[in-house]
Amino acid sequence: MADGPVDPRRRVPRTDTLLADPRLAAAIATLGRDRVKAVVSRAQERARHGEIGPDEVRDAAVAALPAPGPRAVLNATGVVLHTNLGRAPLSPTAVAAIVAAAGHTDVELDLSTGRRARRGRDALDALAAAVPDAGAVHVVNNGAAALVLAATALAAGREIVVSRGELVEIGDGFRLPDLLESTGARLREVGTTNRTTLADYAAALGPQTGFVLKVHPSNFQVTGFTSATPVRQLATLGVPVVADIGSGLLAPDPLLPDEPDAAGSLRAGATLVTASGDKLLGGPQAGLLLGDAELVDRLRRHPLARALRVDKLTLAALAATLHHPDTPTRAALHADPGTLRQRVERLRDRLGADGRKAEVVPAVAVVGGGGAPGVELDSWALSLPERYAAPLRTGERPVLGRVVRGRLLLDLRCVPAADDEAVRAAVLRVPGDD
Ligand SMILES: *Cc1c(COP(=O)(O)O)cnc(C)c1O
Repeated sequence: MADGPVDPRRRVPRTDTLLADPRLAAAIATLGRDRVKAVVSRAQERARHGEIGPDEVRDAAVAALPAPGPRAVLNATGVVLHTNLGRAPLSPTAVAAIVAAAGHTDVELDLSTGRRARRGRDALDALAAAVPDAGAVHVVNNGAAALVLAATALAAGREIVVSRGELVEIGDGFRLPDLLESTGARLREVGTTNRTTLADYAAALGPQTGFVLKVHPSNFQVTGFTSATPVRQLATLGVPVVADIGSGLLAPDPLLPDEPDAAGSLRAGATLVTASGDKLLGGPQAGLLLGDAELVDRLRRHPLARALRVDKLTLAALAATLHHPDTPTRAALHADPGTLRQRVERLRDRLGADGRKAEVVPAVAVVGGGGAPGVELDSWALSLPERYAAPLRTGERPVLGRVVRGRLLLDLRCVPAADDEAVRAAVLRVPGDD
């Protein structure tokens, strides 16, 4: 009797054999055993379905290993701008712009004349158009770089006059006073932690003054017996006023009444405004400089500007963000609590018969990431037993929530509605109670 075809399932290499392959074993060290195993079982599955031969399983698994690097995660923390999660997620339009700019582009060439052109003019023009009060604009790598450029060009070897209430640590141990002094400028501290008056600033001015700096307290609040001097008053002092607004709001947002915006600060008399691109603007990491045309031109031509030059991908994403300001950040900030509740209820209803002991609970989301420290956003979350936190964080599609009093809260405010299904799938991948 002739041999029948060998059942392909019998010849698919076993998992432990595959994991002993040096390339897959090396991947375990960086990606973790679970992820490599998942890749291996998908390759085995393809062989069982006859899509690839049993001899090809090993190479197929190696080829399917995810590239090492940052992993995409679902932000169910309820923190809109989460620094550890990369702050603002880019809009699909900005992502498409990055992809389009990844090859050769006309970033520094005028195609109509064939001559060299101003680098990143699309982004710069869009920024200038968004803030007509600015005489000129420039873009560098991040908000800190914008401050360094301003301090170096305007105050190296001279003094920056700043309130003691605005000597801010921005995070991870980095402090603005240290950053500013690293440029060779000296800080002339005035006033007290809780109160600084116009007279305090005026008394500190002299021939050594480079500029007066106003820093928005973007990640803390001082309450009680307090008084700060607004830009409008500082502008009467007769020296340049640099306003570090932090969050990158270009125009006021009624939802965030205490958050300064670039247009308002310039109209109040700031000579220069500095801000981040990846906070409330919802764009890529970048440092925005807007203000007096002559001054911005000086900054642009300063030798240090070359070291802080922003790359073509950032410029592409920034231009797209400015042209299409409906960013995921804006959507998360302005999400309607009623709609969020419906999404969470739907999620719970679709978790199966026992519903995984999930509950639908009200939650409080925050802006985070250096913006609107006092603002609380009404939100809704799926509440699960705390034991879900680690497997969801380390799973195939990581979901980050917030643990509150023994429960894991998955706040959907910062999760795009299109990803609700991914959250459900991730929850269902966690083994349930027996
Ligand atoms: C965030 C922030 C910075 C730093 O900006 P990066 O873009 O993170 O470099 C500086 N000043 C203020 C007030 C900020 O909020």
